[in-house]
Amino acid sequence: TLKKSLGQNFLTDLNILNKIASAAKLDDTKGVLEIGPGIGALTQQLAKAAGKVVAVEIDGRLLPILEETLQPYPHATVVHGDVLKLDLDELWARHFAGCSGVSVVANLPYYVTTPIMMKLLEQKLPLEYIVVMIQREVAERMAAKPGGKEYGSLSIAVQYYAEPDVVAIVPPTVFIPQPNVDSAVIRLKLRQTPAVHVEDEALFFEVVHACFAQRRKTLSNNLLAGLFDKASKPAMESILAECGIDPVRRGETLGIDEYARLANAILAYRKQLR
Ligand code: SAM
Repeated sequence: TLKKSLGQNFLTDLNILNKIASAAKLDDTKGVLEIGPGIGALTQQLAKAAGKVVAVEIDGRLLPILEETLQPYPHATVVHGDVLKLDLDELWARHFAGCSGVSVVANLPYYVTTPIMMKLLEQKLPLEYIVVMIQREVAERMAAKPGGKEYGSLSIAVQYYAEPDVVAIVPPTVFIPQPNVDSAVIRLKLRQTPAVHVEDEALFFEVVHACFAQRRKTLSNNLLAGLFDKASKPAMESILAECGIDPVRRGETLGIDEYARLANAILAYRKQLR
């Protein structure tokens, strides 16, 4: 029996499986980390294409099945555990040392999409691509450009580390059991260096979150609620002016470069206060 709580929706369509595997541009010098192999449908396709596959599965009941499916592929290894608790640096050193490049490829459990993606990105692992099946709506938020309602702090977090493109939109019918939502395959090409230069990453993401806290509020109202007190309103206004950003704009209209400028200017202001 499948566990809904673990996001167990298995892929059955060979076309989709191949589309996912080929999006990662694998060859026999490459390594792949798969998250949630299930019964190994995608794992087999990855093992055919890559030189090394490590598949992390949380559900111990699936291990005997995986062992059987993967028997023809000795370069595929199953690790039993929760990917969110795993020491990925250690896993890299243990399994991927000889690879010319490593990608993450997975049909993700949807209940933990964002924490898994943020762990992979924030840890700055040496990754080429992340190719994942996720909810369509989340894929669209990750790939969104400024100006629309999909654009938000998730778009900026992802695009800071990577260049996203949506490879395919996938209907529920290719899964067993069928999920309640449309899905999409998204590919992130990891950047060598972040998209923008920020002096303080934590502050950068704090500014982004503050500016999206209430989407219908202006930038200046969101910043006042989140990062400045009433007394420092004039300072905030001059920071925005210095950055060439109109205070009545909304967070969803600012590009990542404007957020970087704003965060760097706020940092400079804080330093000068000390
Ligand atoms: N790869 C298979 C396929 O495409 O048919 C299964 C994909 S299914 C959507 C997600 C898989 O992730 C399930 O096998 C589930 O048990 C596993 N899983 C859920 N949470 C996990 C976690 N925190 N760490 C590792 N695996 C997890």
